[in-house]
Parts: sequence; C-alpha cells; structure tokens
Amino acid sequence: MIIGSGPAGIYAADALAQAGTGEDAWSIDVIDRLPCPYGLVRYGVAPDHLKIKSIITALRKVLEQPGVRFLGNIEVGTDVSVDELHRLYDVILFANGAAVDRPIGIPGEDLPGSASAREFVAWYSGHPDAELGRFTLEARGVAVVGVGNVAVDVARVLAKTTGELRGTDLPDHVLDVLERSQVTDIHMFGRRGPAQAKFTTKELRELGELTNADVIVHPDELQLDAASEAAIASSPAVRRNVEVLQEWAQREPQGRPRRLHVRFLLRPVAVLGTDRVAGLRLERSRLDGTGGAVGTGEHTDIDAQLLLRAIGYRGLPLPGLPFDEGSGVVPNAGGRVLREGAPVPGEYVAGWIKRGPTGVIGTNKGDARETVAAVIEDVAGLPVARDGDPDELPPLLAGRGVEVVTWAGWQAIDDAELDLGRTQGRDRVKIADRLELLRAARG
Ligand code: NAP
Repeated sequence: MIIGSGPAGIYAADALAQAGTGEDAWSIDVIDRLPCPYGLVRYGVAPDHLKIKSIITALRKVLEQPGVRFLGNIEVGTDVSVDELHRLYDVILFANGAAVDRPIGIPGEDLPGSASAREFVAWYSGHPDAELGRFTLEARGVAVVGVGNVAVDVARVLAKTTGELRGTDLPDHVLDVLERSQVTDIHMFGRRGPAQAKFTTKELRELGELTNADVIVHPDELQLDAASEAAIASSPAVRRNVEVLQEWAQREPQGRPRRLHVRFLLRPVAVLGTDRVAGLRLERSRLDGTGGAVGTGEHTDIDAQLLLRAIGYRGLPLPGLPFDEGSGVVPNAGGRVLREGAPVPGEYVAGWIKRGPTGVIGTNKGDARETVAAVIEDVAGLPVARDGDPDELPPLLAGRGVEVVTWAGWQAIDDAELDLGRTQGRDRVKIADRLELLRAARG
C-alpha cells in the first residue's frame, strides 16, 4: 500500500513493481485522498509549464501496469486508519507530501487579502479543496514573500495575459478571474541577497521573457558579501542567477502593462491595513558575511492589496504515524519510519514527508528508490498482514459511505476534462469541484 499518488508515491510503485516478477511480483495499491492521481504534478506544477506536466504520461504508465491499482478519494486517518491498513497490507509506504504552509509570523498576516502561495496555486490548479471564489484579483499591487520557485510560479501566472494562459488546463472560473485581473505591480521579496535566492535559473529567466510585464531589479539590492562570492564560486547555478539579475538591473522598463519587481534584502515585519491588507512593511537588511542577513532598522512600505506567502511548505502529521514537529517530516532512516529511534516494521516514507519540501520532481525518483531498497531488504523479516486481503479495502470503505474512485473512474474524469477542452478549442479544461469530479468518475 502506497499512500499518495504524487511523483514520490508513483516512483515508489514503479521501483517496487520492477523489484519483483513472477511469483515474487508485488501487488501494489496506490491510494490518494483526492479523486485524481498525480499529486503536485496535477495540482502544483504551474499550468503553463507544459513540459513538466507531460511527466504525467510516464506516471500514468506506472499506474496502468499489471499489479498496480489506483484507488482515489480515500482519506487515511478519516476513512480508514493506519492500524486497519496494517491488517490488510504487509507494507505501508507513506508518500503523502507536505500539505500545509508555514506562517511568516508577523502582525496582520491573517487579514483578508493575505493568503499562502499554496492556496493560490491550489486555486488556479483547480484543487478540489480550494474554494472556487477564493481569489478575485481586484488588487493592483501584490506582494509575494519569498524568492523560491513557488514565488516565481505565482508571480509569472499573475503577470501573464489570459491569452498566454488559454492554451493551458486552467479551470474556466480561474481564467475568468485572470481575465478581469486589476493587478499592475507584483513585488517579490527576498530577505537575503541574490546569491541566497532559492529559485532555479531556468525558472528565473522566464520572468525576464514576459511580454506583458517589465521586470525591475534595483542594482543597489544586488549586494554580494564574502559568503555570496563563495557561493558563486562553488555553484554555477548561483552564479547564473546573479548574472541574470545583474543584467535585468541594467534594463530600461518598456512601459508594459504590468511590472514585476524582484527585490532583495527586505524582511517583512508587518502587514498594513485594519480590516484587510493594504500594504506590507519591510525592514531593509544587510548581508552578515556568513550567508545570513541582519536588520538595519530602516523600513519601507509597499502598496499591496494581496499578500501571498511563498515561504515553503510543511508536512502534516497523519494519525497513527510518528511526526517530528520541528522538521515537519516523519522521522526515518533512509525511508524506514522510526518510532523512538527504532524502525517500525512495515512502515516506510518517500518524498516530501520523508525529506522535507525540497528538490524538483526528478529528485523523488532516487528518493523513492532508496526507500524501496529498504523495503526489499526488510521484506523477508516483516510480519505478514493479519487479515491479508487488500481486496477487502473497497467494500470496507463502501460500507462507510466512502465513494472510492478506481482507475476506470479516474479515466472517466480524464475523458470528461478532455471533452470539456474540445468544446473550447483547448486540450483540457480541469474540473475543480469535488462533487463534479465524483459525478464524472461515475461516468
Ligand atoms: P523554497 O525553495 O524553500 O523557498 C522559500 C523562500 O521563502 C526562500 O526564499 C526563503 O528565504 C523564504 N522564506 C522562508 N521563510 C521566510 C520568512 N520568514 N520571511 C521571508 N522569507 C522567508 O520553497 P518553495 O518556493 O515553496 O519551493 C519548494 C520546493 O518546490 C523547492 O524545492 C522548489 O524548487 C520546488 N519547486 C520547483 C518548481 C520548478 O521546478 N519549476 C516549481 C515550484 C516549486 P531564505 O532562503 O532566506 O530562508
């Protein structure tokens, strides 16, 4: 049993399927709390990153292999407990990702108009948990806190025209809101310097190629200290990031309809506004020579009616599974779940819940292989599941009123989305509403 059908779970299913043939073949169930598979590839990868999205073709082949079964719309901890799963499966591999966001910890952060980038991404990706009307984009100024790839994604989606996004699978209600967007200025804030930014150069460069937005960088914010120089010398990726930013700092704005300000050495200290977000107060910082930054006491205010916090994700504890609150991951050794320092027989982790929210999709391949190697090494000594028949899971859930979405159900959803796309001259239009997804799954 693999919990989570994102890249980590599916790569683990693939590695397991390849590890056993003939009599040793594994029978693998991949379950997901959503009716649809593919996790963050479907609900996190930006809609205009079509090449990355196409990884779905490879992931799909894994789920279609003999011996692999997808079961969606099952929430572990609510619909079925980890203990119950242990009675049916010899091995449980958790690949349930990092589902929540981290707060910045500044006053005003909870005002209306403040949201996490995770919520915004979920909304534009048509995630069934996202409220359809969650974002209206009546804001002129948007402050995006953080300079990682998620910040870059949300800034780019906000900057593009709907014409540029029409070729994607964005749900209709999202395209409508983007069409009416009032946004003129998008500000991205890094609390440290350009050599400490987390985005990757390929993603960064896309911001400089936007037809609808001028990218604006302040030359005086591209400070480099000894630690930055060392980072540039040791990492070509850091060097390229800094070079790109230095080139942009020389650019003259072209009067495009939107402006994307990429700012550094500014630490958010308070959200301005009484009943909703009106701006963001930031403290200027300076590099401390060791890779960190210290406050200077000088403040600046930015006009923004929408604040998006893109400061990283965090894992969520699953009932019945140990969890390290400090690091936000399940304690593990090479993928073996640890309880009080000792491996729990038959329990494993892969992906973000194992190592934290870092790396690109491909990182999960090696990560899953490591975990599966541990499973293979342990399997002969594992206790056999007591009631041992995974086929009992669907009727058990049906008895509890859980509408399990099988592979055929997902294919029906897939077909419905492709049909919807055809009616609009688009490849696909995503269905966002959970009830509508379940209706489509029924065919
Ligand atoms: P991330 O890469 O960890 O970036 C988080 C950013 O937030 C950093 O700039 C960090 O600055 C900043 N930050 C953290 N706490 C802060 C605070 N209290 N105040 C101000 N700034 C703060 O996280 P992410 O952007 O969420 O991305 C998660 C993972 O997904 C990454 O591995 C990313 O590469 C991956 N991803 C990849 C793609 C892609 O390949 N296209 C797209 C999306 C996401 P400090 O460094 O100073 O802490």
